[in-house]
Amino acid sequence: MMIKLTQRIQRVKPSPTIAITTKAKAMKADGIDVIGFGAGEPDFDTPEPIKAAAVRALQEGKTKYTPVGGVNELKDAIIAKLKRDNQLDYTREEIITSCGGKHVLYNIAQVLFEAGDEVIIPAPYWVSYPDQVLLNDATPVIVDTLEENEFKITPEALNQAITPKTKAVVLNSPSNPTGAAYTQAELAALAKVIETKDVLVISDEIYEKIVYDDFVFSSIASISPAMKAKTIIVNGASKCYSMTGWRMGFAAGPKEIIAAMTKLQGQVTTNITTATQWAVVEAYNGSQDFLKDWVAEFRKRRDYILERLNKIPDVRCFKPQGAFYVFPNISAYLGRKANGQVLKTDLELCDFLLDQAKVAIVAGSGFGAPGFMRLSYATSMQNIEAGLDRIEAAFKQIR
Ligand SMILES: *Cc1c(COP(=O)(O)O)cnc(C)c1O
Repeated sequence: MMIKLTQRIQRVKPSPTIAITTKAKAMKADGIDVIGFGAGEPDFDTPEPIKAAAVRALQEGKTKYTPVGGVNELKDAIIAKLKRDNQLDYTREEIITSCGGKHVLYNIAQVLFEAGDEVIIPAPYWVSYPDQVLLNDATPVIVDTLEENEFKITPEALNQAITPKTKAVVLNSPSNPTGAAYTQAELAALAKVIETKDVLVISDEIYEKIVYDDFVFSSIASISPAMKAKTIIVNGASKCYSMTGWRMGFAAGPKEIIAAMTKLQGQVTTNITTATQWAVVEAYNGSQDFLKDWVAEFRKRRDYILERLNKIPDVRCFKPQGAFYVFPNISAYLGRKANGQVLKTDLELCDFLLDQAKVAIVAGSGFGAPGFMRLSYATSMQNIEAGLDRIEAAFKQIR
């Protein structure tokens, strides 16, 4: 029989970050020694007290369904976290937990976007934003940012992109893939534009705790009560607590939106894994001391990788304020030859690096930024050193 898939699913492309990791994994399985710079998750283990809380929950028989949005203890831990870290007051009706930040974003898209709506997404962007908008029949409006502006959207560019059809703007700070983070002043300038318009903000703050050099994280929701009323904060335990496999994310926002998301989730996935909920209660309520060590380690790696990349002739790399990615500009190498073949695009360059140097790096095109590539430094210093040796040698072969 002829299987006919929906228009909707045909609009979506597979995640390019998953594509490169899959290819690298296949090479590794064939015995090839590949160094991966593709990882979108911390290489640290989940802290022991968090794991212990999950084990305890299982032993206590906390193995059944819970309320769709999460147990009250979890919502209260999130409310306390938002107060402590972001100086924001929320109630339980304004919080939902879902199966990862990605699921939270999808739920938001499902309840807010439909045909005719435009959603502003600054590029470089995290790969799932445009596809989730497309899955819900709306139109992603990609606004390119400039490397000179540290890949941040300016108030002018935002203002120009807003039309009567604009439903929301997606902000991600610190950013995947660039590591750029907005200062409070920068957010206040964007807020000035947004406050006067009928536009919501989806603020993806999943890398909140991973910031360097005294950078102070701010949420755009904390700029003013008016901004809080039109912002949906997306956050979760995946990146800052090294809990990617546990699947927990949350939204904090206007209660009408949260209620709609809860209704939707009640028909789709119900609650997130019960033991995960209790683990995350510990993550938010327990000691945050390990974070200092993690951030110090990430910072050391960032500085090393930046120094090495910037030493490669004609490669230029912006110094990120957060997350665990660097996003070098490799456009000077496009159109040059390696192994007798012209490398026309960043995708071809990354393919060359994987085949030739056995390093897995994601091309910038996947993030809406051709001419760049993303290296994750969520891997050991030893891997980073060896990988950079390989990258440097491979670039020498491009003429
Ligand atoms: C990793 C990530 C997420 C969420 O990941 P989950 O594993 O679904 O929690 C959301 N936004 C960005 C920018 C990310 O990098």
